Parts: sequence; structure tokens; C-alpha cells
Amino acid sequence: MLELSTPVKFVKRVGERIAAGLALRGVETVEDLLYHLPFRYEDRLNPQPMAELVAGTMASVIGEVRGATLLRTRSGPIFEMTLGQDLGTVKCMWFHGAYLKDRFKLGQMVAVYGKLEPSRSAMAAAAAGTLGAAAGRFKMIQPQFEILPEPGATGADAEFAMLEMGRIVPVYESLGGTTPWGAKLTSKWMRRVVWSIFEDLVEGKPSGAPSMTASPSWVGSKGPEPVTETLPTAMLHRLALPSRLEALRAVHFPEAGTPMVELMSATTPAHKRLIFEELFYLELGLELKRRRMRERVGTAFTTGPAVREAIKQVLPFHPTAAQKRVLGEIVADMRRPQPMRRLLQGDVGSGKTIVAMQAAIVAMENGCQAALMAPTEILATQHYLSARRLLADAVSPRTGRPYQVALLTGSLDPAAKRQTQGRVMRGEAQFIIGTHALQEDKADFNNLGLVIVDEQHRFGVQQRFKLMRKPGADGVASDPDVLAMTATPIPRTLALTLYGDLDVSVIDEMPPGRTPIVTRRTTEEHAAEVWEFVRRQVAQGRQAYLVYPVIEGSKDDQPELDFPHDEEPPVGESIGAPSSSQSTESARKPSAEGAVYSSLGRSPRLSAKMNPRAEGPRYTTAKSRKSPKTDTLFATKTKLRSATEMFDELRTGALKGLRLGLLHGRLSADEKEVTMARFHRGEIDVLVSTTVIEVGVDVANASVMVIDHAERFGLAQMHQLRGRVGRGAAKSFCILMTGGNVTEQADARLNAMVASQNGFELAELDLQQRGPGEFFGTRQTGLPEFRVANLLRDRATLELAKVEAERFAAAPDPAIPPAQIAAVWARLKQQWQRRYGLVEA
Ligand code: ADP
Ligand code: MG
Repeated sequence: MLELSTPVKFVKRVGERIAAGLALRGVETVEDLLYHLPFRYEDRLNPQPMAELVAGTMASVIGEVRGATLLRTRSGPIFEMTLGQDLGTVKCMWFHGAYLKDRFKLGQMVAVYGKLEPSRSAMAAAAAGTLGAAAGRFKMIQPQFEILPEPGATGADAEFAMLEMGRIVPVYESLGGTTPWGAKLTSKWMRRVVWSIFEDLVEGKPSGAPSMTASPSWVGSKGPEPVTETLPTAMLHRLALPSRLEALRAVHFPEAGTPMVELMSATTPAHKRLIFEELFYLELGLELKRRRMRERVGTAFTTGPAVREAIKQVLPFHPTAAQKRVLGEIVADMRRPQPMRRLLQGDVGSGKTIVAMQAAIVAMENGCQAALMAPTEILATQHYLSARRLLADAVSPRTGRPYQVALLTGSLDPAAKRQTQGRVMRGEAQFIIGTHALQEDKADFNNLGLVIVDEQHRFGVQQRFKLMRKPGADGVASDPDVLAMTATPIPRTLALTLYGDLDVSVIDEMPPGRTPIVTRRTTEEHAAEVWEFVRRQVAQGRQAYLVYPVIEGSKDDQPELDFPHDEEPPVGESIGAPSSSQSTESARKPSAEGAVYSSLGRSPRLSAKMNPRAEGPRYTTAKSRKSPKTDTLFATKTKLRSATEMFDELRTGALKGLRLGLLHGRLSADEKEVTMARFHRGEIDVLVSTTVIEVGVDVANASVMVIDHAERFGLAQMHQLRGRVGRGAAKSFCILMTGGNVTEQADARLNAMVASQNGFELAELDLQQRGPGEFFGTRQTGLPEFRVANLLRDRATLELAKVEAERFAAAPDPAIPPAQIAAVWARLKQQWQRRYGLVEA
């Protein structure tokens, strides 16, 4: 008898050795294993006849082995195996396939899965217009394969033949381990193991009987039946969802007649049930957090006429209607006694900064300190300078004195830092602007009332919390208001998950007088024209940015890291960078059974360990997973042009005579500051830079943004960079220059940039391409890891889960027995901490 909590080693065919390997991949219990869901299915009950196959599609084909041979070619051995079915054939080819030499026997039935391509004879026939004879001839490169059970098989092979044939067969992503005798843990192995689990689980159903348990078993239910259900019965009935065990069984072994389309898109009721459960608990946790926050005590700021007057005197321009609206929302929050937790979204250049400054004045006029934290020193310094400018002539109605603004960054020399920290602690500094340094343990505040986090997505979620809980001088943890700002439009799915505990304000309007930015693609061959264009713009009094993906030299393939918390290089997909070459290699290896990529039921926790930089398509739907390796296959190690080298080259070459400046993250803070200030003052015409200028930099006279090696940049990043221009009245330009190979995905990104300036549109596409985990380019520590849900695919279920979670948290449903309600809360607590690691703030 097995229970969901039984360690896997007790499962038949697993045992100590395999269990130890599985444990490394996070699979410890029967439940863990059952949540390793199939990522695709093959309909071996109704296999497609070869004559009906269509070239260019992904197909699963069953045929008999008609021939097999190992070809020695100059580029290495290629193993060829021909599968036949009547007149049709599919020639399967495996590069470096020597290991397959003795695998196949003539006449054996084999199932293969891969991309169908027309065979050479079919192509020749098509060219000659005589396709008839060659129809049904195809080839497949590196297909996955599975040898089907033979009629005379004995033992386990015979016992489990019904798992491999005459049914819809689940295919699993490999768990990556091996058996004690060195065999891979294949799909075949998974099927047998999972099948045995279902036989031994819950009262041991008679073998071969896929009948479903009718009533879910619950915590508190009497009797020997183990706990398997996690959602209230009444909720399942209302939403017409199956019980958990029923769902798990149907996902692993779908009944004949289950539509393949639903299986492949994870939309069967069984899939929906498992996905809903996972998202329900996530949303319930977020809802709980929101509710707890509303119960906490914060500062109720007042906004009398004096405060209004204070705000008005610093406004350099008429705020837009959107700016007024969001300020209203923010101030309404600040007036409440509960602490504010608000996310302010607004596209680059929409004018968030001034809104933040206004909120800071409200805090200061209430006798509190305000802190503004920025992700880079450049940005922190820029905010500091503009805050000083803005507040220079202002006098606080409350104190009758000017506002005291301080800058606190990591690169201050220790003495200056200590001095500033002292002013902060004594409350002499009212508005403190800085970087991560604000979070240092020594950086205590006197009376922190408002925290503003600029470009919030560049910080991890945990850090956001750390600053919130800054203790005051009296040692009591203060609970300041928090305003997080981001210029990366956050797709709704992420807003509902990553930022689900925040209220959201959106600035959806640009300040007046902006002209659209003209965006063009070009290639490195046309560089001379680009430089000529830059010269003409400078001649008209404008300034330009040239952005490169790396700081210097070919050895220096490390993309710009402008703050130490970036685990992931922010630039592009790091194609061909040495750090990724290993995973590129493994992604290229043929995988016979089980696959490298999955979309259904993939466990990010597992895959992250197996292939931490697996590219793109792991989050696409099964249908669109046509060529998972597009981006890596064509990756070659091209030498990248770098900021430092190009600065030297252009200065003495194509841009000779112009005033060039160089900016990157490895310069000292002073050097950066001086260069930025000179660019601001117009003493530099062309700023050669890395992505350090990605966020927030604001120089209105700059009208040209040239991004070199644009193929290496992510969409959100390019959009941010483009946002550096078009800030003044002059017509602005963004030139995306490519060099080297442009992958299919990069091509789509570049075309999207040309076609759209709408940040939300681009964000959606970016999310599709990169997936939630990489969406911001920097790893988000707060992004939950899902076992079955996929934020891109399951948006509708996510919305449903949110509604249900709010409903559940709002008031006890009389239809649900109290024991089941209690069990949901208990499970939430356990799950929230174990899986999402978001300890209650
Ligand atoms: P972001 O939202 O990207 O942080 P900023 O706050 O840096 O944008 O604002 C972009 C530019 O627009 C700045 O130069 C700012 O002074 C200007 N700006 C902001 N609001 C207005 C407004 N209402 N009218 C005119 N200019 C504005
Ligand atoms: Mg900004």
C-alpha cells in the first residue's frame, strides 16, 4: 500500500539507488513523482497513417524497421534507420548515432516523434511535378524513439505492453537519472512506475482497471483511507472539477477518446483541476497577505493645505491627467492608517519620478523621512541631483527650512558614508536617495515613513521586503508606506502572481509634446551610414547613445552587470557565451526517450537543476514547440563589439571630431558621475555605453539611440533603452544594428520593436519568448515555481483561481464543512512556506 507521502524508494522499480538520484531532482515522495506529468502524448490507439503525414509538422509515427545503417561521414558517424508502413517511409537520422548501432531489429515496431521533413526523393519528385510516387516519403532528424513491445514478449514487457500500445501513451521529460545498471529513466520506466503506483495507491484498485475514485478523501475523514484531496468538495462540484487522484490518474493515463488537442494543451478537466489547485493556493496566499497587510498599523499621513502648497511649489510643469490620478491614489493610501503597498506602473518617460517626489514631500511634511532606492548608482545619483534641483528653492511650510536631501550609495568612501548614515539616523536627512546601500544593516533610519523603490523589477522581491521592515532608532520595526515603481509594463499574469499582493496604479499617458520615436533595423554592413546619421544629428545640436552588449574585448564576454544581485546576465540570451556553452551542448544532444523540453507538467525546480539555462520554448505550448533549439543551434561564437573597443575605434575613426564619452558599470562611481554630468550638460555628443543606461537615465536633448548587436538584447531591455530618447520635443530615432547571426526569436524581437512602441504589447511578446522566470532579465526571487501551472498558458485558470481565493478568504462558505476549511488553511501555510519561500512579511 502506498500513500502520497510514501518515500519513492518503496515504489516498485524504484528502490534505494534510484530514489537517491531522484532526491537530487527534488522527487522524494510518491506525490512528487505523480506530479512529474507527461509533457506530451502519443495516440497509439489511432496512429496516423504515413500517407496522411504532412511535411513540416511535428508528428508521432509508428512503423516497422525496414533497414538500419551506420554511415561514416567526414563530420562524424550518422545512424540511419528507415521505418516503413505500406508504401510510406520515414528515414530517421541521428548524428553521432554510433550508440544506436545494435538497437533495432528488422521488422520491429518503433514509435518515433520528431519534425517531418520531405525526403530527398520526395523533394526531387515535387520539383519534377511527379509527387505521386514519392508521396509518403519523409525524413526525421534526431527523432525521439521508443521500441514497441513485441508480440512474443515475456515478463514485464508483456505485462506492460498495454501501456505502450493501443492507447494514448504519456511521454515524460526525462528525470535525468539512471537505474543501478546504468539505463536511463525513460518514459517507459515512468509509465510502469506510475502505473504501479496507481495500482497500490488507495485501497489497491484491481490491476488494469482505470476506474476513478468517486469521492475525494479528506483530512479528518475517518477510516484508513489516506489523505489525497486538497480542495473542498463543494468547490470541486461547483467548478465541475475532478478529485485530485482522479485527475492525476487521467493525466498520466488518459482514457481512450480524450481529445488529443486538449491533452496537448493541458486543458482536459484533469489538467485544469491540477492547475487550478496550484494557482488557487498561490492566490489564496497572496490574498491572505493582502488581508494581513490591511490589518497592520502604518502611518496615517495628513494632507492639509500646507502640504498641498508644499507640493505645488516644487512642480516644474503641469502634471498630466494620469499623473494627477495616480498621485491621488497614492495620497489616498498614505492617508489611511494601514501601510501602503502600491505598484506604480508607467512606460518609460511617462513621468513617474515627479509623482514619487510629490509623495516624498507628503511624508516629509508629516515629519517623516522618505527613502528612494534605485537599482544603479547612475540612477540614484540622477535622482539625487534632480531632487536637489527640484527642492532647491523650496521651503518646507512645516519647518520653514529647505528640505534635507542625502545620497547614500555603496561607493561613497567609508567616512562620507558613515557621516551620511549618521545624518539619516539622527533624522537630519529627510529625503534619502540611494542604492542597495540603503539596506545595509548600519543604515538605520530615524523615522522612515515612505519607501519608494524605483525600477522595482530590478530588485528581487525579498529585498523589497527587507527595506520595508527597516527598524527605527527606537528599535521598533517601523512599517512604512511602500511605493514600488516600474517602467516595465507587467503583463497581467505576472501582476497577478509576482505582484499579487500589491495595489496597482498605472500612468497611461505621456507628457505632452512627445513625438513618436522612429525605429529602424539595420545590419553591421551599414554601420558607415549609421555613423553618418549620428554626425548629422550632432551637427543639429542633438546627442546620441551607442549601446553595446559587453564592456570590453573578446575575452570579456561577460555582459554588463551593473549591480551585484544580477545572477543572470541581463543581456539577451547569452548566446554562445562561454558560460552557456555547456548547456547548449547538452541541449543539442539527441534524447531518445523522454525529452529535454516540456511544457506540460514540467517542474521548473527540476529542470532548473538539470539545465539551468535551457532556452526559450520550455514555456511555449506543446503545439508551438516546433524547434526548441532554434536559438542555440545557430549559436556561433562571434566576437562581440564592446563599448570600450568601439569607444576607441570610433573616436579616432568614424566619429572623429565629435566629443565621445564612455560609460559602463566597471568605472568608478566618480567617473560615472562625471561622465553623466557632462552628457547632461551637453559637453559630450555621443555616449558610448553598456546597459548601465538602461533604466531611468533622462537627458532630453538626446535624440538618437543606436543599439549594436541588437540581436542579443531582450525586448524589455531594448524598449527601456529606446525610452532614453524621445524625451524632448525633437524627433528621435532608435537604430537597431545587428551583427552576426540573428535567430528566429531575435528576428521576431527586432520586428516587434520596429512595429510597436507600446510597452504592454512588447511585454506580452517578451513574456512569450522568455517565460515568466526570465521576463525581467534578472531573476526574480519571488516568482513561485510551479509544478503544473504555466503562467503563459493558464491565464484563464489563474483568473478563476484569484476569484475563488478571494471568495474563500472573504467568508466561510456554509457548503464547506469546517474541517475542510481548516485543512485548506493548514495546507496553505505549509505550501506557502515550502514552495514559494515567501515567509509572511
Ligand atoms: P519615467 O517614468 O521613465 O521615470 P521620468 O519621470 O524620468 O519618466 O520623466 C520623463 C521626462 O518627462 C522627464 O524629463 C520629466 O521631467 C518629464 N516630465 C514628466 N512629467 C511631465 C509633465 N507632466 N509635463 C512635461 N514633462 C514631464
Ligand atoms: Mg524613472
